[in-house]
Amino acid sequence: MDREAWLRAIGNGQVEWLNTGVDVSCDPLVRLPMRFTFKGRWHEIEQIIEVARDDMDANAETFLIRTGSGQVFALCRRLDLVKAGCWWWIAFRVLGSEEVICFDRRRRQMLIDLELKLLADGYGHLCPDFAIGWRVGLFARRVFGENGGNILAGCLSCASEALAAMGTWNLKIDALMGRHFYRLEVPGAGCVELDVPDELTWPDGDFAGLERQVSENRASILEIASYQIRIDEQISRILAATDQELFSPTMSR
Ligand SMILES: [Zn+2]
Repeated sequence: MDREAWLRAIGNGQVEWLNTGVDVSCDPLVRLPMRFTFKGRWHEIEQIIEVARDDMDANAETFLIRTGSGQVFALCRRLDLVKAGCWWWIAFRVLGSEEVICFDRRRRQMLIDLELKLLADGYGHLCPDFAIGWRVGLFARRVFGENGGNILAGCLSCASEALAAMGTWNLKIDALMGRHFYRLEVPGAGCVELDVPDELTWPDGDFAGLERQVSENRASILEIASYQIRIDEQISRILAATDQELFSPTMSR
C-alpha cells in the first residue's frame, strides 16, 4: 500500500517545497512524462502514483511520480496557451522515511492488525467499508464458534469482500438494503443483528465534499492527501469502536 503511505506523508506535511522549473521528456503517444532533469541530471520516472488537478489553475495538472531511485516528486505541467505546448515544474519532493526521524514516523503508516493488513493487501486497498467487514467477521467468529453459520449482508461493498475472504460461513448479500446491516444466523439457535450507525459509514460535512471532489477527479494533490488522512481517521474510529458502539447488536429468532 505504497500509494497510501506517500499520500499520508504529504497530508502530514512531510515534503520539501521546491517550486523549480524542469525539462521533461514525454511519451509522444500518450503524452505522459517519462523522465525529467533535476539538479543537473535526468531522472527516469518509474511509476505515476496519482494524477491530480490544480486547485488554482484549470490548465495545470500534477503528477505524483516515483523515480527509478525511489524518490517521489509532485511534477506539474501547465498548458502553455501561447506556444501550444506546455511547461513543467516540480512543486515538491516527498521526504523519504529516513529523512523524517524528527517527525513521528508512525504517521506514515496505519497501525493495524496483521490479519487485516494481509487481507487488505490481498484485496488491493483498505477503506472504511473493508474495516467494517473485518469487524463483522471478527464478531461472527465469536458468535459462530467452530460450527459456522449464515451471514446476510445488507450491502454490496468492500465490507462483503472482507467477509468473503475471512471465513467459512455462508455469505448472502441483499444489496437492495444498501446499508451496513448484517444478520448472523446460528443454525438452530437464532440470529444476531448488527446495524452500523451512519456516522461510521457515511462521510459527512467537509469529508463528504472532499470525497466528491476526489471521485470526480477535481481534487488537487494536497486535497487527495488530506482525503487519505480523513479515511485513515475513519478507519481508526471503526477499529477503536466497541462492538456495542459499532453494531448495537440485537438478538432475534
Ligand atoms: Zn473499499
